[in-house]
Amino acid sequence: MYWGRGHDVGHCEGEVSTVTRYVYTFGDGRADGDAGMRDLLGGKGANVAEMTRIQIPVPPGFTITTEVCTWFMQHDGGYPEGLREQVDEAMRRVESIMGARFGDAENPLLVSVRSGARVSMPGMMDTVLNLGLNDATVRGLMQRTGNARFAWDSYRRFIQMYGDVVMGIHTRHFEERLARARRRAGVETDPELGADVLEALVAEYKAVVREHAGEDFPQDPDAQLWGAIAAVFRSWDSPRAVSYRRMNGYPDDWGTAVNVQAMVFGNMGDDCATGVAFTRNPATGEKHVYGEYLVNAQGEDVVAGIRTPQPITGGEGSLERRMPDVYRQLLDVFATLERHYRDMQDIEFTIQAGRLWILQTRNGKRTGRAAIRIAVDLVDEGLIDEETAIERVEPRQLEQLLHPMIDPSVQAEPIATGLPASPGAASGHVVFRVEDAVRRADAGEDVILVRTETSPEDIDGMKVARAILTSRGGMTSHAAVVARGMGTCCVVGCSDLEVDEEAGVARAGGATIRAGDEITVEGTTGRVYCGRLPTVDPELDATFERFMRWVDARRRLRVRANADTPEDAAVARRFGAQGIGLCRTEHMFFGEDRIDVVRRMIMAESRDERLAALREILPMQREDFVGVLRAMDGFPVTIRLLDPPLHEFLPHDRDAIAALAARIGMDVDRVSARVHALAEFNPMLGHRGCRLGITYPEIYEIQTRAIIEAALGVRRDGVEVHPEIMIPLVGTRDELAFMRRVVEDEVRRVLDEQGETLDVLVGTMIEVPRAAVTASEVAQVADFFSFGTNDLTQMTYGFSRDDAVRFITVYLEAGILPADPFQTLDVPGVGALIRMACEGGRATRPELHLGVCGEHGGDPESVRFFERIGLDYVSCSPYRVPVARLAAAQAARAAGSSPAASGDH
Ligand code: PEP
Ligand code: MG
Repeated sequence: MYWGRGHDVGHCEGEVSTVTRYVYTFGDGRADGDAGMRDLLGGKGANVAEMTRIQIPVPPGFTITTEVCTWFMQHDGGYPEGLREQVDEAMRRVESIMGARFGDAENPLLVSVRSGARVSMPGMMDTVLNLGLNDATVRGLMQRTGNARFAWDSYRRFIQMYGDVVMGIHTRHFEERLARARRRAGVETDPELGADVLEALVAEYKAVVREHAGEDFPQDPDAQLWGAIAAVFRSWDSPRAVSYRRMNGYPDDWGTAVNVQAMVFGNMGDDCATGVAFTRNPATGEKHVYGEYLVNAQGEDVVAGIRTPQPITGGEGSLERRMPDVYRQLLDVFATLERHYRDMQDIEFTIQAGRLWILQTRNGKRTGRAAIRIAVDLVDEGLIDEETAIERVEPRQLEQLLHPMIDPSVQAEPIATGLPASPGAASGHVVFRVEDAVRRADAGEDVILVRTETSPEDIDGMKVARAILTSRGGMTSHAAVVARGMGTCCVVGCSDLEVDEEAGVARAGGATIRAGDEITVEGTTGRVYCGRLPTVDPELDATFERFMRWVDARRRLRVRANADTPEDAAVARRFGAQGIGLCRTEHMFFGEDRIDVVRRMIMAESRDERLAALREILPMQREDFVGVLRAMDGFPVTIRLLDPPLHEFLPHDRDAIAALAARIGMDVDRVSARVHALAEFNPMLGHRGCRLGITYPEIYEIQTRAIIEAALGVRRDGVEVHPEIMIPLVGTRDELAFMRRVVEDEVRRVLDEQGETLDVLVGTMIEVPRAAVTASEVAQVADFFSFGTNDLTQMTYGFSRDDAVRFITVYLEAGILPADPFQTLDVPGVGALIRMACEGGRATRPELHLGVCGEHGGDPESVRFFERIGLDYVSCSPYRVPVARLAAAQAARAAGSSPAASGDH
């Protein structure tokens, strides 16, 4: 039976009480909640409820809602009225299902207390297992199970976890005692420790608690329970959870639910086990069970990577071989869960005395490659339709697929091989410590984080690393799960590698690697190499192409690329770009062979001198445009005339100025004077964009000439061309009118000279707020608008796009900004200007063509807005083109728009 919030929680004779329901029970085939209640019950709570409903063997328990977490945060750790009664009642139900009592010295019920937000945040929040054990119940457990070793081991684990999570005692203090016990007993692993040793260890652990917490370990199970509930709620605001939320853009007010569930034990003997499994391969998407388990162990042993787990399927040591009946039952459960959720599942299970229990299931995290493969396979299996498949892949994940791999023609011997946890290949300098990773990455170095294993505290180092390499842990270890989520190349469980983090050294295959040495890590194969190896771009496979055809059939927005070179343009085409939305011509000026000519042009003191230099630049520019237009093969190419302040092209220190003067045969003082004359206090707001073009029209004339001559040449070779000329930094109609005249006159001159005709669009960037506000006037002289959202954001906020990062991080942490506006469009502010410009522009010129070419063109969230306001295209960097295509398809579905008709004009 389902009780919604504020609904009746119980019936008395003739009356219905309407108390808010804070606790939802599950187990024994009945559940109050279901899969649709993630916001209230968290992902885990909603899923165990759902699993119970479909008769999956789930240990009984109850979920305390996320609303209680919010209340707890807002009321200084207090609880809403009625909660305690509801928890007590739910506990009685669990007791009756399990036939045991919480705190009973003879037949104790033990529970786990786990977090569970509405989205999975692996390892970010806290968990306490074996709760309910104390000096009396441990004996009851011993008698019930006839297994003293198991009982004492559970108790010592509980004290350690509770001590750490609830009482704030570092696990190191417990681990030291455990290691000492192993040494004393002369054994290597914990399972070899006998009951008496563990019993003594419990006494030592309690002393540790007394020493570090200044109080005794709580013996009252109720006090334990409420201590753990509070700790889980508090862990929602732990630094690592906050950092994870920032990284993923999850709001702080979601809160976590708390799941209290009867314990089942994977560590009661050799007919017990615990494991985690994906119903399909999370790295490649292939359809086979992919998982690991450990005999006689508890869940955290698998996830923490302390012991190396065995595979579920396969040869010697696999679950398939060791427990064939349970294995078959497990496969049935996997099939049921996949069919039910119509998606790949990530499942935790425990086998207690030969009986299978499913602890949780969730949609499994996967790489971009796996996401596509699984979505396509599920369509073929008839479980989902193409629309659903498109929704199943995160646009950002596609970037991973396009990541480089080690050039296959390179012969290199790996020094070590581990598990291929997250694909891609990366080279960089080895760091062993998170602080070093952050410091060196800040200084612009590529770093590879090398650890024995990672923990949630390492998140900042993992974020900046090009690759992550660990010597321990399986495919479901913390490092593997987090790296896959971030799309970072990662190899785990690399046991050939001996890592000494303290000494800052690792050894593998006779090689010694020190901090700062360069290595290459290949997450796709699990291989590690010394030195920096060359990488190549990957081939996009048939499954990808098929998926992208579904995507393209459903989007309305066209996707162009920002590309300045024929090489970039070719990559963009390969990734499906339908034209170039921004070709920044200044990048063409920086080439080694031409920068000095450009500088001579800048040094010129008269129009004639300037023209002489420009004539030398002309053939080079023309060649650039030929390459780009050819690569785009009939798709439109928007070329922006020179934008940055001239000062940016000049050297600044004395030696470089002297060297330049010598190279271009000019007096040093004259060069120096010109460099100083061109310096500006605020170059971003200075003499740049169309302001340059208005001051020195000959620059724009020569660029226009290069474009038109290139276009005619390419067309003569039989390639269709659609050049579009774009004027930057326009703020008024008359600026654009002036520039349009200059450009159109030059276009006409070239066409007349060559006796040809050609359609050339002339338009403007909208990146100055004034242009957006007066768009109806600007549109009188523009064929198109392209929103330069980088500058538009800069000028709307008054945040320098080069330096704002310093305070934006603080703003994000303080919740003053929801996201970095240079990455995700500020819809209420900058977005309002864009909307106004679209409306104004189209009111004047209904056929006005509208696009965006700032960084936001490749940001999925921003793309949703661009779809809503009806832009014609987005333009982004070549590697993000597939991301934008998928984002556009998802946005079209969300907005209910119909797919585009073909043709861009
Ligand atoms: C912009 O300002 O958004 C833009 C695309 O131009 P640039 O980044 O070159 O200033
Ligand atoms: Mg700009």
